[in-house]
Amino acid sequence: MNRWSFACTACGLSYPASRRFPRCDSCGEPLQVVYRGQGRIRDGNILDQKILERYGDFFPFPVPDRNLSLGEGFTPLVRAGKVLNRLGLDRLYFKNETMNPTWSFKDRGTVAGIQYAVDTGCDVIGTVSSGNMAVSVAAYGARAGLKTIVLVSAAIAPEKVAPVAIHGPVLIKVECDYGELYFESLRIGKERGIHFINSDAPFRVEGSKTIAFEICEQLRLNSPDWVVVPTSAGGNLRGIMKGFEEFYDAGLVSGKPRFVAVQAAGCAPICRAFQEGAERIEAVDHPDTLAHAIANPYPPSGNEILRRIRATGGTVIAVTDDDMIAAQGELAGEGIFAQPEGAASLAAVKTLVREGRIRREETVVSVVTGGGLKYGAAFQHHRFDVLECALPALEGCLSSIL
Ligand SMILES: [Zn+2]
Repeated sequence: MNRWSFACTACGLSYPASRRFPRCDSCGEPLQVVYRGQGRIRDGNILDQKILERYGDFFPFPVPDRNLSLGEGFTPLVRAGKVLNRLGLDRLYFKNETMNPTWSFKDRGTVAGIQYAVDTGCDVIGTVSSGNMAVSVAAYGARAGLKTIVLVSAAIAPEKVAPVAIHGPVLIKVECDYGELYFESLRIGKERGIHFINSDAPFRVEGSKTIAFEICEQLRLNSPDWVVVPTSAGGNLRGIMKGFEEFYDAGLVSGKPRFVAVQAAGCAPICRAFQEGAERIEAVDHPDTLAHAIANPYPPSGNEILRRIRATGGTVIAVTDDDMIAAQGELAGEGIFAQPEGAASLAAVKTLVREGRIRREETVVSVVTGGGLKYGAAFQHHRFDVLECALPALEGCLSSIL
């Protein structure tokens, strides 16, 4: 690999690239990749280009293996329609991450994590997840031909098992506290040489940078004023923040956005700490929300999100399950089928506009993190209008609604 290192996100302590454990020995906070490349967007046609190629100057990979890719990234930035008018905003965009190969943003970090595993000679990968990340790592692990271990909570809903199991990983249901499983997986991974690409693993965070890169390109090398991101462990938002910083440092954009971390009201440890002025998050004892994908009771990058949001003038807010379901319906009205957690960002935008914190003339990007098909349990919260009739009555039925 090219010359690079890790650094602690909190105390700045430096670690060599050969480091396996992704957290700081001194303060316990997550590490991040430190690498300075040429800072250029590489020429090429995105119909035949991978994200790790186009933005290769921002990653320490010598030559990305394009066979590891399933065509992740390069997702649409969709200008809001009816919602735009309802909110009275000039520019609101949806970064539609449901368009990724396994229908969520996770694929970006998964491909970066697997590229790192391959470059460092690691042939067993794993993850701790109960949803999008499990599906993503299972799919990409199968693609790469690596032994793939997926650890899920024993309480996983039956509908979530098949989309992971179909790819043939070693799938283990673990009776546990989910927060502890994250740390235990890192310990075992270090001992056994398993590269766990967990929620805020350094190279997973690196992959998420490409969301920021693409948004800048899609806005013709401009930075938006606000970027709103559903936030659980904190890895994705950290990556998006790092991406905007790196494009700014490279002189590709002249401004930086402010960020909104969105949590579920029934499990909002980062939001609570932010509002209380605390420096560290505290675990939520009993998460109570339908938004399981953003219900991490003890986000491993929570403290770093607090630090970064405060340093950049952003905010953290919590939205209710009802708000998310309503936003899911509104997004569907725009043609985008998100899971409720993916619609949390739109729910947050509505709140911030109502409170006057986002102003009409500002450019807002709402990141829609994952697709709705994998989460059938949310459908019961909607009321769908379905008409029925016999064939002879069809024309009469249609005429009644025309
Ligand atoms: Zn540290």
